[in-house]
Amino acid sequence: MADFIELGLIKQLQRALSAEGYMSPTPIQVKSIPHLIKGRDLLGIAQTGTGKTAAFVLPMLQSLTPSSMDQKKSKNPRALILTPTRELAIQIGDSIAIYGKFLDIDSTTIFGGVAQNKQVKVLKNGVDILVATPGRLLDLINQKLLSLNEVQIYVLDEADRMLDMGFIHDVQKITKQIPAERQTLLFSATMPNTVAKLAVGLLANPIKIEVAIQSTVAERIDQRVLFVKKSNKRNLLGTILEDKNIMRALVFTRTKHGANRVAKHLEQNNIQSGVIHGNKSQNARQEALKGFKDGKLRILVATDIAARGIDVDNITHVINFDLPNDPETYVHRIGRTARAGAAGQAISFCDEEEREHLFAIEKSIRKLVDVEVDHPYHAQHVEDATKSTISQKNKKSARKPHGDKSRKKSYRNKKSRIKRKSYHLQNKMPRGDSDKTHNIQVT
Ligand code: AMP
Repeated sequence: MADFIELGLIKQLQRALSAEGYMSPTPIQVKSIPHLIKGRDLLGIAQTGTGKTAAFVLPMLQSLTPSSMDQKKSKNPRALILTPTRELAIQIGDSIAIYGKFLDIDSTTIFGGVAQNKQVKVLKNGVDILVATPGRLLDLINQKLLSLNEVQIYVLDEADRMLDMGFIHDVQKITKQIPAERQTLLFSATMPNTVAKLAVGLLANPIKIEVAIQSTVAERIDQRVLFVKKSNKRNLLGTILEDKNIMRALVFTRTKHGANRVAKHLEQNNIQSGVIHGNKSQNARQEALKGFKDGKLRILVATDIAARGIDVDNITHVINFDLPNDPETYVHRIGRTARAGAAGQAISFCDEEEREHLFAIEKSIRKLVDVEVDHPYHAQHVEDATKSTISQKNKKSARKPHGDKSRKKSYRNKKSRIKRKSYHLQNKMPRGDSDKTHNIQVT
């Protein structure tokens, strides 16, 4: 298996990656980083969850790191990353900070919907990497508060979404501001004609990398939701963990106290577990993580922040004891299992207060999560309320067919409610049995 040294990354980046717990590069990183370091253009067909951000940020940081001390630093950005949304821009900005923490590279993120003053102030101090959404970027260019004439690396992320959102003219205007002599990277989850056309005009002899859509995290993982009363969650967890097929499980809770309570409950039930969260000392966290990695602890209970960067192989199950309130966190959590192409299962508990979270998650992953009803703590009232929330939402958004049609269909159709004989039936029931699994894709 390739490692980050073989990809030709400098020591400061290797250090940052190991601090983040990354053991080895993902396929898109293996395929792209060596070419990008050499300055090639790239056309990448890849979705979030493949590690595409690091695939372009790491070589970018490396290229922008001055090789000699006397290199003069410019105030204008030398790299521009264009993204369709503010959320994605922030996420990329965070990644740059993480990967570049041992380098002297300044970056900032600009987007609309907030006052521009702070953003302008940071720009005036000088930045190396600018992450931006198209509208605000053009605004600032038009006000002559920013120049792109020193950009050497130009990245368009999620180009298909960018065009879907009507940014094509903005992208064209922005591109005209950037020197023709540059390295250009274009990432897109899909390749409709409009994006292919854009790519032809932008890229020069690019390497082409496609990471199969089927291999995205959310699709590879068998996901299910169990409706349960809040007060029964701990008992439900105990029952579920009787299944010996759960060999190595990461259990996520929303709060540190929640994590402690779950760990205590497991201990009382003679289930060995470790716990990591922000209030635990670095030593205690490392010890728990080591026990989990070595296989001495079957269960690790964690909060999201503490689990950031955890990279443990062969996690068979991710259990969402609490559902996160944002879908990105859900995808990151469940992505801890099914690493390196392995199968994995994600089991989520959903109580009465978490129904909205489930709805947002399903919308985001464009798939309905299978409902597991046959367990001793099944809360019918939560499931019923979920159905009514969904039908309310359908009513509200009747003029917006995207996504809602199939959701409605699934919940209206009784068959789509999965009644499994037991919660570990996955081992007995062949996957892809279309009569029993109704993962309806939203188109
Ligand atoms: P992305 O596709 O860029 O949104 O990345 C998805 C997630 O994978 C992020 O949480 C990254 O922190 C994580 N990630 C990226 N590369 C690696 C790697 N080589 N090893 C472990 N995690 C990674």
